[in-house]
Amino acid sequence: MHTFPINVDFGFYSIVNRDVPAEQMIDLAHIVQTAIKGSYDTRWAHYDKAMRQRMRHEVFVVKEIQKALDCGEFKVYLQPQYDYPTRKMTSAEALVRWVQPDAGVIPPNEFIPVFEKNGFINKLDLYVFEEVCRIQHNQISSGGHAVPIAVNLSRVDLFSHDLVVKLLDICNRFEVEQKLVKLEITESAYSNEPQQLVSAIEALRAAGFSVEMDDFGSGYSSLDTLYEMPVDAVKLDMRFIDGSQTQRGRFIIDTIVNMMKLLEIPLIAEGVETENQADFLHSIGCDIMQGYYYARPMPEEFLHLHQ
Ligand code: C2E
Ligand code: CA
Ligand code: CA
Repeated sequence: MHTFPINVDFGFYSIVNRDVPAEQMIDLAHIVQTAIKGSYDTRWAHYDKAMRQRMRHEVFVVKEIQKALDCGEFKVYLQPQYDYPTRKMTSAEALVRWVQPDAGVIPPNEFIPVFEKNGFINKLDLYVFEEVCRIQHNQISSGGHAVPIAVNLSRVDLFSHDLVVKLLDICNRFEVEQKLVKLEITESAYSNEPQQLVSAIEALRAAGFSVEMDDFGSGYSSLDTLYEMPVDAVKLDMRFIDGSQTQRGRFIIDTIVNMMKLLEIPLIAEGVETENQADFLHSIGCDIMQGYYYARPMPEEFLHLHQ
């Protein structure tokens, strides 16, 4: 038997002035209901004056973002991941940049949290996924060697019931196999509603995608999430690599590397900036690395130079 989660959103309009036509009251309740659609934890809201102003502003912001998306202002940069012993690029991560004509390049930390709140992140992440499929398609059709590219998914994306269908549809359109696009889910996404997340991850893996746990160790319940979540690989949060200068820090990384080996979960070290750090990681058996020591995130044209 199949079960489908059903989310119902309610918008309320309290009648204070009976002169307002009934259709307008219904419209306003409907607007409130629509306004909370992008939010994964709000299921109902009331209409009031402050809300009207806020909604006007949000409509303006979303229109501006949509315009930016249509004008191609969001660019996908790629940062390679390397295998230490062979110095070969094994995969890459897609990292989005907002290139504004006046303001220049805006880093994702400045707009992703806003997009997660206003729901636009769904569109942006699908756009990045599509761009990655386009890059892979071009790489394959030009006879090049395509390595998997990882796309970041926000937890908001995971609550969208048709995510798998949409991702598969994009793969089909660009004739790209699922194994050429990996999905990174940040660890902070795991803290709420773990059962729903387990189901979402299982559905993605059943559809042929590799799912990687991003920023492992940055949250409060890392071991807990590792215990519950069925993932194909784990990315070690870059703060650990920072700590590799002290013996205490090195013990911690060493222990994590050993634990992943016992669990047979591949580990990717992120934020590797120096040769010393790379050598140390290799000495304890962690060979897949990503970081400024090897390469910064770059526009796709530079990728082939690094292969
Ligand atoms: P993240 O997924 O943990 O990405 C790694 C971040 O570390 C990237 O920052 C990358 O440029 C940076 N980095 C890579 N190597 C080094 C290094 O050696 N040293 C240091 N100090 N930093 C390094 P970026 O591109 O600014 O992205 C920040 C965060 O924004 C990402 O963290 C990810 O959570 C989010 N993000 C980026 N692109 C997307 C996207 O398309 N969708 C979603 N939902 N989130 C995204
Ligand atoms: Ca990531
Ligand atoms: Ca990360």
